[in-house]
Amino acid sequence: MVLIAARDLSCVALGVCQALPAEPRLFTLFLNEFLPMRIVDIRDGVAPIASPIRNAFIDFSTMTISVIAIVTDVVRDGAPVIGYGFHSNGRYAQQGILRSRLIPRLLQAEPDTLLDDSGQNLDAHRVWRTFMHNEKPGGHGDRAVAAGALDMAVWDVIAKIEEKPLWRLLSERYNNGQFDAQIMVYPGGGYYYPDKQISGLQDEMRGYDEAGYQVAKMKIGGADLDTDLARIEGALEVLGDGQRLAVDANGKFDLDTALAYAKAIEPLNLFWYEEVGDPLDYALQAELAGHYPGAMATGENLFSTQDVCNLIRFGGMRADRDWIQADPALAYGLTEYMNLIEATEALGWPRRRLMPHGGHQLSLNIAAGLQIGGTESYPAVFQPYGGFADDIPIVGGYTTLPDTPGIGMEHKPTMLAALRKHLELA
Ligand code: MG
Repeated sequence: MVLIAARDLSCVALGVCQALPAEPRLFTLFLNEFLPMRIVDIRDGVAPIASPIRNAFIDFSTMTISVIAIVTDVVRDGAPVIGYGFHSNGRYAQQGILRSRLIPRLLQAEPDTLLDDSGQNLDAHRVWRTFMHNEKPGGHGDRAVAAGALDMAVWDVIAKIEEKPLWRLLSERYNNGQFDAQIMVYPGGGYYYPDKQISGLQDEMRGYDEAGYQVAKMKIGGADLDTDLARIEGALEVLGDGQRLAVDANGKFDLDTALAYAKAIEPLNLFWYEEVGDPLDYALQAELAGHYPGAMATGENLFSTQDVCNLIRFGGMRADRDWIQADPALAYGLTEYMNLIEATEALGWPRRRLMPHGGHQLSLNIAAGLQIGGTESYPAVFQPYGGFADDIPIVGGYTTLPDTPGIGMEHKPTMLAALRKHLELA
């Protein structure tokens, strides 16, 4: 206890030490080298990401997300290291689960049980097991979303303390030092905006093309088949090749509708046909696979490794052409996503067939450091949380990552400012 108190005291004093002669400051830094790090605060907040858009199932006029900050007593460049996290769009903020269960378990845990063997950093797997303690298996819903946000902040802390970008840390620890310098990304868009006609959709697609994207995605299922076909053809007038356009039904169709759309779009040779029926209707997915030779994609609303394994076992998904879109920021975080990669590979699925939903920098780091297929991007919606680093362009459908420590949120100043505002960090 004396050592813990000493570290806390030395951390608090560090700001004061800046004005002192070098020797006391060096002593403080020396002391911290030998004392275990500590989480000093975990904050959560609710942030609006309302957008005037809708897909086949919901509108996003009241959408929110949970945002997280883990404040530590580790000091870099004169300031405490803070890890930030949030979950993806679509499931609303999860403050109740975070405040009543997951966060208190971390704050009440014996601090050393959260650390790696060096005592100088968090161990993501130990942290994960702690905040998931006393949670029954199965029923993967809003709890998985809350865990996804919290786990993102944990990994941001870990990479910052290690003074490495997360993609490099993942590469070195878990991928034999290999990584992708360029990551395939595509914009999720083409929503049903109120009063937006085909020309509006074409303007949107033109914008993605000019921004450097190779493949873009649009929503279907929010109108009848004839209307959607006209929209698809309108988008293809801009993009050209069908392999530059994916379509997403957001789980709307029954089997008959799914097959009718499949028959209509098959000649267009689209990049993929996404989330056609209910996410858990594996029989529908398997039946579709028997009728649609083009690529299928699904999984953004499967929130566990077990659900994804069942999709592979029973959903007719084909490892040579289809895509699995499970999103780590909705499905228990990166820590669990590593288990998902291992489990799907054991079922014969190359990790290159994984392309997470969500359009956030966590999946971009995973794509680079663990060499999965790529990730979705949100350059135009769900701001300020959608999209990647402001200062890195998209070229030929690929992007790169910054080399600064952490997930890279500091490269999105507008997002970082919003995070800090909602977390009441001065
Ligand atoms: Mg989707």
